[in-house]
Amino acid sequence: MGNHKITIAIDGYSACGKSTLARELATRLDYTFIDSGAMYRGVTLFALRNNIIQGEAIDQKKLIELLPSISISFKKVGDTFRHLHLNNEDVEQEIRNKPVSDHVSPIAEIKEVRKFLVDQQQKMGRLGGIVMDGRDIGTVVFPNAELKIFVTANIEVRVQRRLDELKSKGIDSNANEVRDNLTQRDYIDSTRAESPLRKADDAVEIDNSDLTREQQLNLALELAQERLNSLIKS
Ligand code: C5P
Repeated sequence: MGNHKITIAIDGYSACGKSTLARELATRLDYTFIDSGAMYRGVTLFALRNNIIQGEAIDQKKLIELLPSISISFKKVGDTFRHLHLNNEDVEQEIRNKPVSDHVSPIAEIKEVRKFLVDQQQKMGRLGGIVMDGRDIGTVVFPNAELKIFVTANIEVRVQRRLDELKSKGIDSNANEVRDNLTQRDYIDSTRAESPLRKADDAVEIDNSDLTREQQLNLALELAQERLNSLIKS
C-alpha cells in the first residue's frame, strides 16, 4: 500500500475480537500493533502485587504515587507476537488471568492512570503506521486517526470467543464466570466519568457476530485501502 501510513483506531466492548482484528490488520499492512488493554492490565497486575488492591478497595493515592515506578513496554517474542512487560518482566500470560480481569476496569477508571497510559500510547503512535485497539482510541488517544472502527458482537458470541481464547491458553473458566466479567466490565467502561467507551462520531461500526475472522479482516482492509487512496489523492 505504498509509503503512506495511516493511524487506525479500533474500539469496542470486551471480547469482541478487537485485538485479533488489530493484530491481523497490522501484520497485513506491516504496521505496529498495540493492545492498549494489555497496558491497563499491566498496571492492574502491579496494583495487585503491591497490595494496592485489597478485596474491592483500591488505595488510589498509593497507586498514583507509585505510577512513575511502573514501566510498561511491549517486547518481541518470536516473529510476530509482542508480549507485555511490566518492569522488564514478561507478564503476558498473567495479565489474562481472572484476578486481573476482575479488577482492571476499576483501575482504568482512575484519571491519573489513564493520563499515564494515554501519554505513552500517543508517543507510540506519533509516526503513524499503527493499529491500536481499546476503548478510547478513536475518541481520546487518536481523535484524528484516519480510520476508526467500532467493533460489536452479541454477548453469547463474545462469551464463547473468550472461553475459547482462555482454553487455548490453558486457563480454566466457565460461561457464567466469563459472562459476568464481560457484562460488568462493559458497564463500568461505558458509564465511567473519564473517557467512557463510546463510538466516535466518525467511526465505522462492524458487527462481527456472524462474520468469520477473514471476512472481518477483509472489510477492515478495504476501509484502510479507501483511506490510503484518499490520502494519496489529497
Ligand atoms: O481490551 P481488554 O479487554 O484487555 O481491556 C481490559 C480493560 O482495560 C477494559 O475492560 C477497560 O476497563 C480497560 N481499557 C480502557 N481503555 C483502553 C483499553 C482498555 O479503559 N483503551
